[in-house]
Amino acid sequence: MRIGNFEVTRLPELVVTEGAGLFPELDLATVTDPRLLAPPFHDGGLFRSSIHLWLLQGEGRVILVDAGAGAGKDRPLSPRFHRLEGRLDRLLAPAGVTAAQVTDVALTHLHVDHVGWCTTRQDGEWRPSFPTARHWIPAAELAAFAPEAAPPGKDPRAHLPWQDSIAPLLAAGLVTPIAPGDRIGPLLALEAAGHTAGQLAFLLEQQAAAALFAADMLHQPLQILLPQVNSRYCALPETAVATRRRLLALAADRGAVLLPAHFDLPCGVLVRRAGAGFDFTLPRPASSAP
Ligand SMILES: [Zn+2]
Repeated sequence: MRIGNFEVTRLPELVVTEGAGLFPELDLATVTDPRLLAPPFHDGGLFRSSIHLWLLQGEGRVILVDAGAGAGKDRPLSPRFHRLEGRLDRLLAPAGVTAAQVTDVALTHLHVDHVGWCTTRQDGEWRPSFPTARHWIPAAELAAFAPEAAPPGKDPRAHLPWQDSIAPLLAAGLVTPIAPGDRIGPLLALEAAGHTAGQLAFLLEQQAAAALFAADMLHQPLQILLPQVNSRYCALPETAVATRRRLLALAADRGAVLLPAHFDLPCGVLVRRAGAGFDFTLPRPASSAP
């Protein structure tokens, strides 16, 4: 997908599924739009969530937005991501780049399915996978997820993603904290709290084109039509709803392609205003024509 000077490629890692419990406050019988409970979003009675990385190439930069679940990581508290198999070179292959070519890694937040490929196991240790890249991480996420910030008695296994995926970056001096309003080359960091307290989204604006890397401010397109519906993963429910409405309005008003972290679509969706709310259309798959 072309956005101005940048080629944007989705690097799919895996798909996880979940039942109606994904949206505890929603009665699925009230969801009547046939697009919402059909593939690729819903199949066999289960919601489908893609785990993927977005890769941007242009203007001399190779930028990853989020870093997936990674391989071989101990995730006893997140069984779906426990000791996954996978190879970074194969993950990056569709974009035609190597890990050494990545110049920037922009993380939206620090959950297990967004930090995994930041490190890979080398000689028995977790080492930065992108050793020459600057890693841009929300300052509020660094503060919230640091083990020393945890309340007494927190399960120490909850710190494994920090210990194996973030601490090695900090030790190597590869991390720059960021806040809303900061820029990473062509990307503008936007406040996106709600799913986590410190989550950021990233807006790529290029001439007449734009894309919004929307992170986990929504998990399913039904939340475009029903922005008041939170998933069970929204840590701050009221903030999450306000963030969703604000970022959907931004995408609609700027014509930005919405590229969420978990839609199983290579080209995202186009959001538009509809009455007092929002609707969406699925873009045609990218043509292979030049
Ligand atoms: Zn996520």
